[in-house]
Amino acid sequence: TNEFAFTDDPFDKMPKLRARLLANENPLGISPNAKEALVKAADLGNRYAWMEFAQLKTLLATDEGVKPTNIMMSPGSSDILMAAADHFAKGGGTILTSTMTYDDLLQRAEKFGAKIKALPMTKDYKFDLPAIKANITPDVKMVYIVNPNNPTGTIIPTAELEAFIREVAPKVPVFIDEAYIDFFEPAERPKLGKLVSEGQNVILARTFSKIHGFAGLRLGYAIAQPEMLKTLHAYTNGEFAVSITTLMAGIASYKDVDWQNHCRAENAKARNYTTKALTDMGYEVIPSSANFILFPIRMKTSAFSNQMFANGIGIQTRDFNGQPYCRVSVGTMDEMAMFMDSFKKVVG
Ligand code: PLP
Repeated sequence: TNEFAFTDDPFDKMPKLRARLLANENPLGISPNAKEALVKAADLGNRYAWMEFAQLKTLLATDEGVKPTNIMMSPGSSDILMAAADHFAKGGGTILTSTMTYDDLLQRAEKFGAKIKALPMTKDYKFDLPAIKANITPDVKMVYIVNPNNPTGTIIPTAELEAFIREVAPKVPVFIDEAYIDFFEPAERPKLGKLVSEGQNVILARTFSKIHGFAGLRLGYAIAQPEMLKTLHAYTNGEFAVSITTLMAGIASYKDVDWQNHCRAENAKARNYTTKALTDMGYEVIPSSANFILFPIRMKTSAFSNQMFANGIGIQTRDFNGQPYCRVSVGTMDEMAMFMDSFKKVVG
């Protein structure tokens, strides 16, 4: 099984936090345009959201180079992950992935009968695609890849990922969890939609929880072949689980490219500041392309976590191969300064 699990459950300590840096949320909040749309949506709360679904899917499909029928909306991407876990666990078989990745889908699939085969990452904490390719055996039902990866923040070069999908997807479905894709600079963002329009058996999972700041509002979607979406749909509560308020806010946020650029730039600034401050102290920070940073620490995870929380700083800790790590979400510059201040105190 995936050995990279939470070592602490910090959520009961949340109310006392000065800096909530444990869930990769957007510290800047939602777009002002999305707020306005939420208020307008209140007047439409009595209506089913048929037109709004169509409007958002058309926007997304146009940008991704797919058809609206290649898109299924959901209340957050977790629903897509869970549907895939349920479907591919049915009747047993193996889900192939790497160690040290997001394990919600994996844990669920394991609970419902799948075997999880998590291969070691490369030395620089990336998915080892050649190793995954070499392990595609007849019992493998699905490959799960997270790009950018959580918790390492690492990315797979786009050309390598595309070649991998073209080779593997004809044999076994490839699930790419792109929760953090919006943190790529727009010019460098992988455009895997074109592989879907080529007919490849790939499932892309997306969320508004990160750069759009919708973690509480709940909005996500899958991009895949229509037959695959139909299969996954059967394991969900249906698209109407997304409210008209969230949809209208989502449309406004999606169109507010200035807000997304602002959040991406602020994230990069605070991430660079924190990476440099930790590196200056002699810590080896894994280069991150997302809104969190992972680095090995020199204290036991429980002692470190307890002391950071006692200082009002919420972070996450994990043990991996006997090495303790801290994962800190990127907050505002003020929050990262508070984090560094407490970190220095705690590690002495
Ligand atoms: N996938 C990854 C890699 C994540 O880190 C998260 C949340 O942090 C999710 C999926 C689920 O996010 P949500 O259900 O809010 O879209």
